[in-house]
Amino acid sequence: MNENKDKIFEKQQLDLLDKLQFIKGIGPKRAEAFIKEGIKSSKDLLLYFPRAYIDRSGSNSIRYAANILARLNSIDSETNISDFNFSPEITIIGKVIAANEHIFAQKRKMLKLIINDGSGVSASIIFWNKINIFKSLYKTGMILAISGKPLQDKFNSITYTHPEIDIIDEDDANVYKQGGILPKYRISEFMASSHITLKTLRTIMQNVIKSDLRLITESLPNHILEKYQLPNIQETIKNLHFPLNQNILQLSRYRIKFEEIFYFLLKVELSRQKIKLNEIAVSINSKSTLARKLYDKLPFELTSDQKKFLRDVADDIKNGQAMNRLLQGDVGSGKTIVAFLSMLMFVEEGYQCAFMAPTEVLAEQHYKNFLKYAEDLEIKVVQLVGGQKKLLRNNILDEIRSGQAKIIVGTHALFQSDIEYNKLALVVIDEQHRFGVEQRADLIKLSKMSYENRQLSPHVLVMSATPIPRTLTMTAYGDLDVSIIKTMPKNRKAILTRVVFDSQRQEVYEFVRNEIKKGHQIFIVYPLVEKSEKIELKAAIEHYEHLSKEIFTDLRCGLIHGQMFWYEKEEAMQAFLNREFDILVSTTVIEVGIDIPNATVMIIEDAERFGLSQLHQLRGRVGRGSEQSYCFLITKDKFKYKIKSMNDEDERTSAIVRLKTMQETSDGFKIAEVDLKLRGPGDILGTKQSGMPEFKYLDLINDADIISNAKIAVQEILKDDPKLQKAYNSLIKEQLYVKYGISQSYIQIA
Ligand code: ADP
Ligand code: MG
Repeated sequence: MNENKDKIFEKQQLDLLDKLQFIKGIGPKRAEAFIKEGIKSSKDLLLYFPRAYIDRSGSNSIRYAANILARLNSIDSETNISDFNFSPEITIIGKVIAANEHIFAQKRKMLKLIINDGSGVSASIIFWNKINIFKSLYKTGMILAISGKPLQDKFNSITYTHPEIDIIDEDDANVYKQGGILPKYRISEFMASSHITLKTLRTIMQNVIKSDLRLITESLPNHILEKYQLPNIQETIKNLHFPLNQNILQLSRYRIKFEEIFYFLLKVELSRQKIKLNEIAVSINSKSTLARKLYDKLPFELTSDQKKFLRDVADDIKNGQAMNRLLQGDVGSGKTIVAFLSMLMFVEEGYQCAFMAPTEVLAEQHYKNFLKYAEDLEIKVVQLVGGQKKLLRNNILDEIRSGQAKIIVGTHALFQSDIEYNKLALVVIDEQHRFGVEQRADLIKLSKMSYENRQLSPHVLVMSATPIPRTLTMTAYGDLDVSIIKTMPKNRKAILTRVVFDSQRQEVYEFVRNEIKKGHQIFIVYPLVEKSEKIELKAAIEHYEHLSKEIFTDLRCGLIHGQMFWYEKEEAMQAFLNREFDILVSTTVIEVGIDIPNATVMIIEDAERFGLSQLHQLRGRVGRGSEQSYCFLITKDKFKYKIKSMNDEDERTSAIVRLKTMQETSDGFKIAEVDLKLRGPGDILGTKQSGMPEFKYLDLINDADIISNAKIAVQEILKDDPKLQKAYNSLIKEQLYVKYGISQSYIQIA
């Protein structure tokens, strides 16, 4: 106890607001500037880590920078795609050898510094504003570290405009010469106006490390530090500010990220345990004769991933805790059949199941499938969607209320408050990424009320065809158990994908004719090219008319575009499904999940404009039947040789990477990994439903290893000490409180 009190006292000391100004080099005025930036204590200051470092390995010679740019420019001039107007951030270090002022028309002035680093190519820095300030700041003979996105002229020399500049003075130059690493901090305007420069901040940091670092207490227990060979917190902080070399820096970074994700995952795991214990649900014996009967009747063998999923579900539902499971599997991996088999386990015991789809067409399709599955099982499947005739709807509502209807398929119409369920025990949500978290909560609330005993929660199964890399699943869906169907059914033929170029268009059209002769159907998708809806509509209709009136005059073409009402789109989809068209031209992304088994060709125009996961989803619209299917990604002729000559270094030239990835793999998870690298996590999960945690240090893209290791650490600790009662875990408990406000009693219940 005493020891604890001491620690708290120490912490209070650290958090003292007015402490900051007494640190050597700060004083009241600078303290104020720090406070405006949220740096209120010496602890905050110690945790104000550099946002970058200057060291030899991190900077480039001007010659090297010029070479990088030359290569990118050659791609640029070929493509004209905005993706390629990408200029990387490049840091160079060099001496100012000349400073010239130029005066243009209307007395517009420009300051130009010429920088030389002895590599044989020179760089220049251009300033258009505040010229006088910069002229007095940067003088001939100074050594500067320059970071920014330079451009290159036709003579190869590179130019920075208003880049970020650090003066490397003699001391720094010495550190630098010895191969040392200089920290770079973000200097806000407030800080700058209180004369906190990079140089002064470095000195201040050295001072605060000297005076206050010892007050920082360890936040990971010894047994973890030892097991994972992590440096202690004081070393870590010191080395993040002033690392002696890259190894030490990497190790320190590792530790700070590990700690961040470790406590996050621990929190998630504890809350998951807690939900499990608190959400009481009906317990189900999974030995279902109904499921067995259907299982034996299936014309195919389930894949091992499908079977594993069924075992996972059986485990989840047998002990009276609510299931919260996410089933991930690529389009066509066979999620629906296993969801249906799961529902039968509940029906067997007299319970109801609700199955929710994102669109009416999809609901309809599932309904029809379910009727087929249920044929000999003598169970009632009903469909509840918007726009049903009153009489019919009332009838269905009666069947739901009485409990006669066992499986209810629908859209969001399943939420409406006039629906009274009768022992609703399982809710399946298909294509989860289209439902918000709130909707999910609504449905749970609705089904809770279906019990006399309101304490019971339904079991929830969420299905998603958007493959998400494992690290993202762990962080964004940590509260769900996850099953993955990784292998596709054996009989599935991989969709043959080819990138084709404008000039090969005729061959593609010939191919289309042949497929249609065989009785197959074709999708042609155009990207949403213009921001303006009017222009988009016009472009869509033009494409459509061109195809139907000039190319495929003898064939039947249908059109879907973004300006149609949802029911018009659904009608068009339905017509296509009924084979009223041979070709469906679409400008909008065709609804997820819809099965048109007869469609064998997907043509994507201007394919370089689509995102990777979008391309993958689109391709998944074909290959749903037993016939060989094809996907053609049409793009500009200019890309032709680029795709052949591309190597890994060009990874950031993303349009090419996307096309190449599509051509090479059909593995949704592999595609998702590439996508994550190209776009970052926020875009992949979408902001609305993501609930993505923001990490201060961790980078979800590049720190997959750290996440996996921390996850293992969390699992091992909870296995050894589920309620964190052992003495050697007391620090963990304390930190859970400090970081997340998680109290002792919370953990006790969990
Ligand atoms: P999704 O995961 O996209 O929802 P579906 O459940 O619609 O995929 O399955 C696509 C098709 O594959 C369906 O026609 C289904 O009957 C079939 N299928 C499912 N599992 C298997 C399997 N193990 N072997 C062969 N075909 C299967
Ligand atoms: Mg599906």
